[in-house]
Amino acid sequence: MPKPSENLKKLPPYLFAELDRKIADAKAKGVDIISLGVGDPDLPTPQPIIDAMKTAVEDPSTHTYPAYKGSPNFCQSASQWMKTRFNVDVDPVNETMALIGAKEGIAHLILAYTQPGDVVLCPSPGYPVYENYTLLCGGEPYTVPLLAKNNYLPDLKAIPENVARKAKLLFLNYPNNPTGAIATDEMMLEAIEFCRKYDILLCHDNAYSEMTYDGYRAPSFLSVPGAKDVCLEMFSFSKMFNMTGWRIGFAVGNADGIKALGTIKNNTDSGAFTAIQRAATVGLERCDELTKDLNAIYGRRRDLFVEGLRKMGWDIEPMVATFYMWVPVPTGMTSEAFASLLLEKCGIVVPPGNGYGPEGEGFFRVALTANEDRLKEALQRMEDNGVTFNKLANKTACSL
Ligand SMILES: *Cc1c(COP(=O)(O)O)cnc(C)c1O
Repeated sequence: MPKPSENLKKLPPYLFAELDRKIADAKAKGVDIISLGVGDPDLPTPQPIIDAMKTAVEDPSTHTYPAYKGSPNFCQSASQWMKTRFNVDVDPVNETMALIGAKEGIAHLILAYTQPGDVVLCPSPGYPVYENYTLLCGGEPYTVPLLAKNNYLPDLKAIPENVARKAKLLFLNYPNNPTGAIATDEMMLEAIEFCRKYDILLCHDNAYSEMTYDGYRAPSFLSVPGAKDVCLEMFSFSKMFNMTGWRIGFAVGNADGIKALGTIKNNTDSGAFTAIQRAATVGLERCDELTKDLNAIYGRRRDLFVEGLRKMGWDIEPMVATFYMWVPVPTGMTSEAFASLLLEKCGIVVPPGNGYGPEGEGFFRVALTANEDRLKEALQRMEDNGVTFNKLANKTACSL
């Protein structure tokens, strides 16, 4: 057998491997696991989208190869949504492209722009695909730390000049996975200016734009004047409408970026199933109505869990977007030790923060992907096992 590409060996060790093994062990022993681990909604896709899919799939004209750019109707609908939702103008032909999920778009954009020696600026903690796909393309990921003291916003001024000059892409993601942080106007402006100065394509991953609470409305980076000169934005139906398995999203913005992405797609995947594009259009048309109910559910879960953690000594504020809570581990523990402890003592699965990059050490992420009863049960188990933010370190850390 020939050996796979050397680039595969550059991927960091899979940090959840040990945790996955422990989960499998616990399940084999019959432990009732509460998974707050994967960012995969537990609720079904809204019915109008399912109904539209049923109709679309019965129509044989959806069964042929799709247009790799997305069907004209889908692109028109995405462009219209950008206008009504953000007051952003994007041309449905040259500045809009259907994606087989945002992940596909991110990976293929990196492939389109990265040669050996090229730098890609990747936030840490952050969605692992930015860094990993850069490595697969032989590029050099450069870590942009997102720190609590900066409200998890990037400090672009800290990036050395010689690194910025070699950079092709900057990835940002607000509302943010895993921290739940949100963008500020000032940061968006600064990021656009930074990319203009150094001739970098800014890829803003807006996968959580519609998952917001307390009246907060997340912005599009394309609403910054002139942003389209340097910025592409990716949207996903996965989290917006509980459609992770459907694989659909879109990219909008800079026409050169869209064109380069399209060249890769044309030669790789040939586009998203037309029936899925049709169904997704219904989601965009009824976006506010359909996301309102889902966000109300996540909002109640958030309140319940924040209150529970506060009772155990955590000093945390509720996030206003995403279904992730980014929580410091008890004093004196590592992320992995605390994740193991929650699994072994409480049967609760959470990812350790260092799985999202070195700057994630000292945190764990909670995905609110279980109903209120299960979340209450999780909190009860933590309380029963004496988990508290302050005291836990003395009590149990040593035994791990
Ligand atoms: C879930 C997620 C994605 C992937 O979205 P798909 O459309 O399902 O590929 C992309 N970026 C971030 C930050 C995510 O959390």
